[in-house]
Amino acid sequence: MKIFSTISEARAASRAARGAGQRLGLVPTMGALHEGHLSLVRAARAECDEVAASIFVNPTQFGPNEDLAKYPRSLERDCQMLEREGVGFVFAPTVDEMYPAGAVTWVTVEDLSGKLDGRSRPGHFRGVTTVVAKLFHIVEPDIAFFGQKDAAQVAVIRRMVRDLKFAVKVEVCPIVREADGLAMSSRNAYLDEAQRKQALVLHRSLERVEELSRRGETNAARLIAAGRSEFDREPSVRLDYFEIVDPDSLDPVADACGALVAVAAYVGNTRLIDNVVLAR
Ligand code: AMP
Repeated sequence: MKIFSTISEARAASRAARGAGQRLGLVPTMGALHEGHLSLVRAARAECDEVAASIFVNPTQFGPNEDLAKYPRSLERDCQMLEREGVGFVFAPTVDEMYPAGAVTWVTVEDLSGKLDGRSRPGHFRGVTTVVAKLFHIVEPDIAFFGQKDAAQVAVIRRMVRDLKFAVKVEVCPIVREADGLAMSSRNAYLDEAQRKQALVLHRSLERVEELSRRGETNAARLIAAGRSEFDREPSVRLDYFEIVDPDSLDPVADACGALVAVAAYVGNTRLIDNVVLAR
């Protein structure tokens, strides 16, 4: 497995792969890898001849009071994990490589970028779409793999790909969870033992909504009330949003059939997200 820090090296490797007729998959990450990330790599391996992974803690998607400085970084360990999974090359650029001095060009998916996490984290999705557009231009993958864990991100990236006519297929992989249901996240490393237990309220609230939905409840307002009530019982966790929306437009729906139930909450200073898509 090769590890590149420059755009020219990554570009040369991806061009060589495509030139050899290989189908190239890209798994964009911010590192601090866990089984959730590896599930994307495995999906990419199953569908592509060559897999590239990127590791880049993208500063422009962090707000001024967010955790950019303390975001976990473990490049060496990450690369070992990726090598074991059969990744062909890793692209791990510096910030200067991705954002040359004086860079003022942004990719913004308007409207959608102000919903869900975009409402709570102004500028977040502008940072995400800008860096993902750059990665797509550099690597030119046939397929890019993203996790359902970041459901709003999926909607925003799909829209960007559609609107800007990127020649890339977006594939979305299911949420990988810990045995007790907590969605895997690099940020789980911030949680102490007590917070780790408190954090289960996110999954619990979604399970409650899913259960009511299975029993025939389709009214989004009632489902939201039920989900939120789980948070009333866990006052140490501060709810950011609990919404039931259309998975593509991210607009609230009245009828929850086939809708995305998305939750974000602060456990201490750690912001966690989770979601489920209800059956039709
Ligand atoms: P990140 O490193 O947090 O930017 O995540 C990189 C990719 O891995 C994104 O597409 C995430 O949605 C995906 N991902 C993160 N956690 C999980 C998880 N628990 N299950 C599935 N995909 C995940």
